[in-house]
Amino acid sequence: MRICRFNGGRLGLVQGDKVIDVTPVLGLIPAQNYPLPQKDLLIEALPQLRSAIEAEAKKGASHAITGVKFDSPVANPGKIIGAPINYKAHVEESKADANIGHGRNITSIGDWGMFLKAGTSLIGCSDDIVLRFPERRNDHEVELGIVIGKQGNQIKATDAMDYIAGYCVTLDMTLRGPEFQCFRKSIDSYSVAGPWLVTADEVRDPNNLDLWLTVNGESRQKSNTSFLVYDIARLIEFASSFYTLMPGDIIMTGTPEGVGPVKPGDLIEACVESIGQFSIRVAPAYA
Ligand code: MN
Repeated sequence: MRICRFNGGRLGLVQGDKVIDVTPVLGLIPAQNYPLPQKDLLIEALPQLRSAIEAEAKKGASHAITGVKFDSPVANPGKIIGAPINYKAHVEESKADANIGHGRNITSIGDWGMFLKAGTSLIGCSDDIVLRFPERRNDHEVELGIVIGKQGNQIKATDAMDYIAGYCVTLDMTLRGPEFQCFRKSIDSYSVAGPWLVTADEVRDPNNLDLWLTVNGESRQKSNTSFLVYDIARLIEFASSFYTLMPGDIIMTGTPEGVGPVKPGDLIEACVESIGQFSIRVAPAYA
């Protein structure tokens, strides 16, 4: 099942090149009172809502996917978790280019651990990425995104795949520099998720998916998730050895080699095989 959020909070089921409006299903999410939990209520309820989504899709309005504005498929992730230096070839390019590493000792994800990005940095792929700090390097990083489906702590790698709601294409936009990652990568619009969530049952082997990114049509990144240093299950095990994972948490699994700068006005195209593809604009001016 391919679930999207579109046109400012509507819920959609993606079928071929159409988005079917199934927004009434949102009314079936169990009501919650203040204080709201630190999780995404739609993602948590998704397994129970599947039949209602299918039923609603039989009567919902149909839109061409080219005619809708995609919001982030997860509205309220409690956490956006990043995986640094998680492709070997990206480790090597980070060692070789002082403008990526900024003097940090490039060791391993096991040594560095993971990092958190602010929820306010998250946008959908129909929004613009708005760069800051014109004098500094702002890079693209295409990554497979995992969306957690149920709460778990200290999850074993052998159980980890059961905790995945689905997958999306993510961009971990990055201001290069000396600050900690959590600060540099949390600028508004520096986390992109889209175009939709593909539920886990539809992805046979997430550890063997091609992914690529172009800027203005020029190939920049091209790899496969089989080159991940920590694969999907190990990332869930590692993250949950420190954090309780909650429904709707997004794990950006790390970027392959080929990271590079973008400028205002650029057009980024990003794709993960079997998940989806989107084009996103870099806004024509710095914020
Ligand atoms: Mn990254």
